[in-house]
Amino acid sequence: MPELPEVETVRVALEPVISGQTIESVRLTRENLRWPLPEHLDKRLLGQCCSVPKRRSKYILIDLSNEETLLIHLGMSGAIRLYDQKPNFAKHDHFSVEFTSGQWVVFSDPRRFGHLDLFASDATCKHPLLSGLGVEPLSDEFTDSVLASLMKGRTTPIKSALLDQRLIAGLGNIYVSEALFRAGISPRRKAGTIAGQRARRLTEAIKVVLREAINAGGTSLRNHIQPGGEIGYFVQDLRVYGQAGQPCVDCGQGIKQIIQSGRSSFYCSSCQR
Ligand SMILES: [Zn+2]
Repeated sequence: MPELPEVETVRVALEPVISGQTIESVRLTRENLRWPLPEHLDKRLLGQCCSVPKRRSKYILIDLSNEETLLIHLGMSGAIRLYDQKPNFAKHDHFSVEFTSGQWVVFSDPRRFGHLDLFASDATCKHPLLSGLGVEPLSDEFTDSVLASLMKGRTTPIKSALLDQRLIAGLGNIYVSEALFRAGISPRRKAGTIAGQRARRLTEAIKVVLREAINAGGTSLRNHIQPGGEIGYFVQDLRVYGQAGQPCVDCGQGIKQIIQSGRSSFYCSSCQR
């Protein structure tokens, strides 16, 4: 499932292909993905010029010359591929855009949990998927004092609070587990106790694990020699996520796996307190 770094990798890959480019044709094979798609999506995109793609949380936002904005959400299994010429479409290639440059952007989504939307650009901050989102973890606004004030008084485990998109936008299970390990903080610790040194360590760890993953995505992007390779999925150096029973890289003790709010948490009970 794509998390923030994967989506950012896709955004970076799209940037040179679509920025300032005009949409020549649109191929749409369905009227719905997770939800119904906007009416006449294909016709409304034709002839529009795309601005530099942006990202908010796990959403890609592309402002168009008609003052509408295209939102792309990859969902659980969505993937984007780029082609220098018209591709041979596969079964799950639900949305494809050809640019006047001759390049194609293809969105495939086998499980159809993804979403596409098109709305007036000046309504972006009121969009139901975007309006309630918390602070962007890689932005300058996300500081240790902001983290501490977001967590203050909360009795839920820190793991669950970090996954709450209304507090911090875009963090998922993988990077929360990794950030808590780097910060030496147990996923079971009460969120309200995150302040001072702990807040500093955790803020730094969140930014570091996200940046490292984005860099890994960039590396995998440069290694995509064959056109049409899926963007946004890459192998990363995960220290605790999915490592249950493996020795901790710091102390050698076995990594534990517990379930919190229905989702797996991985941690070292010796290094993380
Ligand atoms: Zn350890």
